[in-house]
Amino acid sequence: MGENTWPGGYRHAMTQSEHEAWNACNYPGTLQLCSERDDPTGRCEEDSIYADDDGEIGHLCEECWETMKTTEDGETTQGEES
Ligand SMILES: [Zn+2]
Repeated sequence: MGENTWPGGYRHAMTQSEHEAWNACNYPGTLQLCSERDDPTGRCEEDSIYADDDGEIGHLCEECWETMKTTEDGETTQGEES
C-alpha cells in the first residue's frame, strides 16, 4: 500500500510529542528509578505505579509495588486478581 510498516505493528511514524514521550520512557539516563530500592521501574511518568491512590508511595518497581500494596492496611489483594 506504500505505507511505512514498522516492526511490532506500528503503522505510523511517531509524532514529535510521541517521540519525546518514548524517549522519556526509554532513553538511558532518564529511567525512572524505584523510590524504594533505586532500581529501574521500567516505567515512566505516564504509567508510574504507586502503592497508594494518592501517589505518595512511589514510584515503585513492580516488585516493590507487589510487596507494598499487599502490606498496606495489613490486607492482601490475593483472590482479587483480574
Ligand atoms: Zn523496587
